[in-house]
Amino acid sequence: MRVKLVAGNWKMHGNLVANRALLQASISALSSLDAAKFAVCVPYPYLSQARELLNGSNISWGAQDLCQFESGAYTGAVSASMLTDFGCRYVIVGHSERRSVFGDTNETVALKYAAALKAGLSPILCVGETLAEREAGAAEAIVGAQLDAVLVLARSGAQSLARAVIAYEPVWAIGTGKTATPDQAQAMHAAIRRRIASQDQGIAGRVNVLYGGSVKAGNAGELFAMPDIDGGLIGGASLVAEEFIAICRAANQVSAKVQA
Ligand code: PEP
Repeated sequence: MRVKLVAGNWKMHGNLVANRALLQASISALSSLDAAKFAVCVPYPYLSQARELLNGSNISWGAQDLCQFESGAYTGAVSASMLTDFGCRYVIVGHSERRSVFGDTNETVALKYAAALKAGLSPILCVGETLAEREAGAAEAIVGAQLDAVLVLARSGAQSLARAVIAYEPVWAIGTGKTATPDQAQAMHAAIRRRIASQDQGIAGRVNVLYGGSVKAGNAGELFAMPDIDGGLIGGASLVAEEFIAICRAANQVSAKVQA
């Protein structure tokens, strides 16, 4: 049985004072929820603060990217072992903003994914098509190629998903206020699971596939109720305590129902 996971992606937002208020509100509101899992992926400088505040709570923490190399002359980069030094459990790889703004290719994403796993982290692998790709009828092919780059070409294999998470994030829905309908998202999640099943049926049934793209308190429940949507990767709404808490409650409620 898959347990729902809600992970906040703070992107390049926050400061010490605002983070403390957000995390403290989340810790006390989520402490009694035990049917789902929760995490926040914060900017690197705030990992220490996240560790200090979240240690002992039911909220894990992680980063939003990592370097594919283990160490060396890579100015400005942060390695997987640096993230584990700060107690990270998760790291996002292949977010569409990393792909489009910073030039991460499928190959780079595959290397980052492998580096995260090697260090004991759980990568949250983001995949998703642009609006033009969807309108051209190529959404499934694009997402399939992004998955294959990691699982097939980089030879990480479907078994590597035992400790990873996939996030389907249609680029046209990220930060735009446009959410994929529950049926649109469900269709892609099922396609992702079918593709993994062609390599490993057991892993396909166990891997968490999150939806990301303008998830809010108002639409989280209907998205999370879909059979192949195992929670959410939450951008903007994860910065607002009441929104993030309500989304986590929605995941917990659906998870609790499934577990009953
Ligand atoms: C994201 O950036 O991962 C995301 C899903 O953003 P938003 O929720 O703001 O669309």
